[in-house]
Parts: sequence; structure tokens; C-alpha cells
Amino acid sequence: MNWISDWALPKIQGLFKRDVPENLWHKCPACEQMIFHRDLERNLHVCTHCGHHMRIGAQRRLECTLDAGFQRIELPKSPVDPLRFRDQRRYGDRLREAQAKAGMEDAVAVAHGTINGRRAVVAAFEFSFMGGSMSAGVGEAIVTAARLAVLQDAPLIIFSASGGARMQEGAISLMQMPRTIIATQMVKEAGLPFIMVLCDPTTGGVTASFAMVGDIQIAEPGAMIGFAGARVIEQTVREKLPEGFQRAEYLLEHGILDMVVKRTEMKETLARVISLLREPVIGEEPGSELVPAH
Ligand SMILES: [Zn+2]
Repeated sequence: MNWISDWALPKIQGLFKRDVPENLWHKCPACEQMIFHRDLERNLHVCTHCGHHMRIGAQRRLECTLDAGFQRIELPKSPVDPLRFRDQRRYGDRLREAQAKAGMEDAVAVAHGTINGRRAVVAAFEFSFMGGSMSAGVGEAIVTAARLAVLQDAPLIIFSASGGARMQEGAISLMQMPRTIIATQMVKEAGLPFIMVLCDPTTGGVTASFAMVGDIQIAEPGAMIGFAGARVIEQTVREKLPEGFQRAEYLLEHGILDMVVKRTEMKETLARVISLLREPVIGEEPGSELVPAH
């Protein structure tokens, strides 16, 4: 120990720390290139080098989909820990921790507003909230979004990112599958478009319910979409699965999806799809030529 290590070194380190805050640079998990945080933010968390789509939260998703001034709606409270479930920890504790971290009641946020001037109701999954798993609260959020769409005579758009059922809610979680199907059916019966945007990853009970019944099925590039994991399927069928199996591009090629759309083009695409599916205002492009003059 001397004055250099005791006094001078901490001072110098302190100086540098102030000048270089952490997290200014992000490493792309696909190509491992470094990206400046502002560039990444501007590019909606899509890698500026290789185009890899990183996961984004529900609030950010709403911001880059809806026009400024959209309103997030308060969701009905659902019963907390109905089964009093406990694994290594109590489910109630896990839930409260996730709620505090995400600032949300459960794994879905719902908002209404406009997309390039066209009215829409948007529900977005927050994957960081217990893996976007489907609880009674998530089911309630989807039902609320569907009801709101019918009430406002607006299309329903859902951005999914989920690991499937929430194990801690057992059969109650599974009941959300028929529940969300009925909710989206309500939107269709009202003659309103239901547009699904599958984001990375969409698996399990979400894939097996509302996420596959959109009028238009869109996915983000590279998104993993499936029911069971690839390894489980390989072990069951005892066959090697093809390259890119369960990825958005593979599913598009095999007719499961209608479109794979880059995040940076998503808003424009949604606005175009809405105007094509709904009777557009005469003289308004695009798709206005498809409607006969009254
Ligand atoms: Zn990259």
C-alpha cells in the first residue's frame, strides 16, 4: 500500500467513471458488434449491423406503433395467487416482484389511439414479466382489449411475446386459451379486423390459442414461433429438424404467416393493412381505388 494505490488511483478511476457512464454501448447478441445506445434506440432496437431484432418492452412497443397521444388503459384486477402456489418461492412474492420491476399489473399492456391517423386498440406483451406467461390477468387484458375494440369500432392488434401458460396458475392459466379465443371472435363478429403480430418468442398456450387466429398474421424477422421447443419435438419424432425450423421466415414459406415485417416498417404496414381491411375514405390512399364510389 502506498499513496498511489490508496489515494491517487481511486481519484483517477473516479474521474473516468464520471466521464464514461455504463450502458452507452450495447452488444448485438447475433453479430456481437457494438452499437451506440442512441443509434439502437433510433433504430427501434434493431441491430444497425445485421438487422437482428432485439426484444423490446410493452411500453416501447406501444410508443413505436401508435401515434403520440395514445392512452394506456387501466386493466381490471385479477385474483392474486388463486391456487396459493409455491415452488422454491411463493407465487404471490414472485408476482409482486415482477409487478414492481415492470410497473405493470401483469404481462400485457393495452392502449387505444391512432396509427398514422387510423383508430386502433393495441395490446402488447411484456416478455420480461414472468416470460410473458398467460395468467388470468393476461386473459383479462386480452378480453378488455377486445371489448374496447368493439366499443370503439376499431381494429384489434396484438403483439405477442410469451413462453406460454403460467405454470403457477395451473388450470386457470389454461382456461385463458378458450377465453382469449372467444374475445377475438367477438371482434371478428363485429366485423372488425384482428391483426396478430408475433414477436420473439411466441410459444406454448399463446400459440395454441388467439395468436394463430388473426385475420392477418404478421411476424417480426427471426422470431421464434412454435408450440413445443425444437428439442422436445426432435426427441418425440426422432428426426433432425430442418434449418430455421420455428423461425418466422420458415413459417412464412410454409403458409403459416401472411407477412414478415421489419420493426422499422411495422407502423406503416399496419396502417396500410387497416386501410385495406376497413372501408377507406374516398380519395384517401392507399387502397381507395378498390372501393366503388357511392
Ligand atoms: Zn447484429
